[in-house]
Amino acid sequence: MGATEEKRRVAEIVRTLKREYPEARCSLDHSSPLELLVATILSAQCTDERVNRVTPELFRKYPTAADYAAAPAEELERDIHSTGFFRNKAKSIQGACRRLRDEHGGRVPETMEELLKLPGVARKTANVVLGNAYGQASGVVVDTHVSRLSERLGLSAEKAPEKIEQDLMRLVPREDWVLFSHLLIAHGRKICKARAPLCCECPLEKLCPSNACGQ
Ligand code: SF4
Repeated sequence: MGATEEKRRVAEIVRTLKREYPEARCSLDHSSPLELLVATILSAQCTDERVNRVTPELFRKYPTAADYAAAPAEELERDIHSTGFFRNKAKSIQGACRRLRDEHGGRVPETMEELLKLPGVARKTANVVLGNAYGQASGVVVDTHVSRLSERLGLSAEKAPEKIEQDLMRLVPREDWVLFSHLLIAHGRKICKARAPLCCECPLEKLCPSNACGQ
């Protein structure tokens, strides 16, 4: 398929998914860039639903970066225990928040370069924060749903998230980068499930090379 045709197919995928999932958005509850940064760190290897059960109390208890930075590690670990990998996550939150407190006046920076310097913050977390807290399209967030659907939809043959992201950035118009991952995640949860995709109910069946309906 030529590059123009491929972009046309992707545009049709985006249009269809926007119609199907008009409510698609970041599913981590937050009301500030700091809250989103913390929630995103907690969401590694954990469902957003579980993170959302922990964060209301957490955000009340630690309203600023300085509060996380000053907390005894064991106490923070207890507070986030149910999201799993709590020692590493507590270390990342405290490392990032100490830097925010000491070098950014407690504010979460608005550039990829500065975000990547925060301990425990990799490109995916930075993309989530820039896209959803600051409305900046810095890239495409690639999580497990986005990886799986990109492969099934023939958008990327890569395995590493950073490489999948590069393919998606080439194919998807920049103004849709942030929404695109929310759309794929919504579709992955509802129809294009990991074990048994519901191809016969899928609005993308005519656009998808992995369509297994009727097989
Ligand atoms: S047709 Fe099947 S494999 Fe393709 S996107 Fe839809 S559910 Fe997923």
